[in-house]
This record gives sequence, C-alpha cells and structure tokens, in this order.
Amino acid sequence: MRGMDAVKWALQAIYPRRCPVCHDIVMPAGHLICPSCKGKMRLAKEPRCKKCSKPLEKEETEYCADCAGRSHAFEEAAGIFLYDKIMRESLMKCKYGGRREYLDYYGQAMARYGGKYLKRWRPQAFAPVPLHKARQRRRGFNQSAVLARELAGSLNVPVYEHMLEKPRKTRPQKELEARQRRTNLKGAFIIGRDFQPFERVVLVDDVYTTGSTADEAARCLKEAGVGTVYVMTLCIGNGF
Ligand SMILES: [Zn+2]
Ligand SMILES: [Zn+2]
Repeated sequence: MRGMDAVKWALQAIYPRRCPVCHDIVMPAGHLICPSCKGKMRLAKEPRCKKCSKPLEKEETEYCADCAGRSHAFEEAAGIFLYDKIMRESLMKCKYGGRREYLDYYGQAMARYGGKYLKRWRPQAFAPVPLHKARQRRRGFNQSAVLARELAGSLNVPVYEHMLEKPRKTRPQKELEARQRRTNLKGAFIIGRDFQPFERVVLVDDVYTTGSTADEAARCLKEAGVGTVYVMTLCIGNGF
C-alpha cells in the first residue's frame, strides 16, 4: 500500500464515506456511491435547450422559455444532472450538512458525462463561481471550486480559483423570483487576482436555474477581455 492509499484507508475507517443518494455508509468501501444508488441521480436528457441545456418537453422546440425570451452573456451551458428532489437533498447535505465528500462523486460524474461538451469547447481555464468570503469561511469550502478541481483533474486544464471574486453579500438566489434574481446579482462579481484574458473559459457552478448567476459572472469575465464563456453545472432545472 502506498503512503497516500494508507492515509485514505485509515480515514475511510474513521470517517466512512457516505452515499450522495441514500446518505448511508457506502458499501463496498472504496466506492463513491452505492452501486444500487448510481442510477437514481437522473441525467438531464434530450431534447434539451440549445443554449442552456435544460430538458424540454417537446422535440420541436429549440430553446426553453427562458432562453427564447432573452439573450445570455455566455455562449452555451451544460448541466449534468436533473435538479430534482434527490439532487436537491444531496446538495443540501453536501453544502450545509458536512458531507463534503459528495463533491468527489459529483465532480467525477461531471467529467464523465460532460466530456463531450468539453471536447467541443476546448477550454483554456476553468473558473468557479465565487462565494462571498464570509459564506465560504462558514461553509469551509466553495463547492464550485472543488467541482472545478475535480473536473480539471483528468483533463489537463488549469483551474483559476480567483478569476472572479464576490465582494458583496447577496440574498440566496433560491429565495427570489426570476426578475429579482437578476437585480440581486447586478455587479456582484469583480475580477479577481487570478484573472487572465483567455480566449475560452468554462465557468463552473453547482446549480443552473434561470442562468442569472452564469450571466452576471460571464458578463464580468467578458468585459475584462475573455473571448468566450461556457458554463458547466452539476445540475439543471427543467425548461418547462
Ligand atoms: Zn446509496
Ligand atoms: Zn434555455
């Protein structure tokens, strides 16, 4: 057993890994999710919106109601899982219930199922959507930054964790209506110390609903000189 494996093994014995779906201890040890729970996190499927990738009801429509009605600051977005009850609960426990280990599975799944997008986008950098400092300190981590690192790990694309900063506290987006979401975030992001004006950047976040966060972050990057901004999120809401 190599040194790192021994450390992992010992940690696993003291703090056994929990499953991001059923929240029980994962069996067999060494897996990131129970084999029987794997299919329960539902992948977002076709037909999907051509702009934001939200699943659509009808094959004939190209865009979801949201994207048909207004333009976005980003080029294209890809959400991997459906933001359903299972996913909502999983993320809740991950972000507020100390189940940080769920991010390992999420990130790996994003790399696997988002691979076809990344191949086409050819990003030069990943930029996580930042949290306000106080919020990050309380939580102990920025889930988007961990997801970006997991994603980048297998791809040889660097992560610039402080490409953007969020100096102002904003109300949680999930508490707000679509229009309020946009005004809530106006000017919420600024360029951070890692900024570089790359041609192609992929923003990474946990949830995509109306795209307000993605738009505001993409707008900020582009105003500072980034050519094209793509968005990859762990999960995405329905487009109908
Ligand atoms: Zn399970
Ligand atoms: Zn859309």
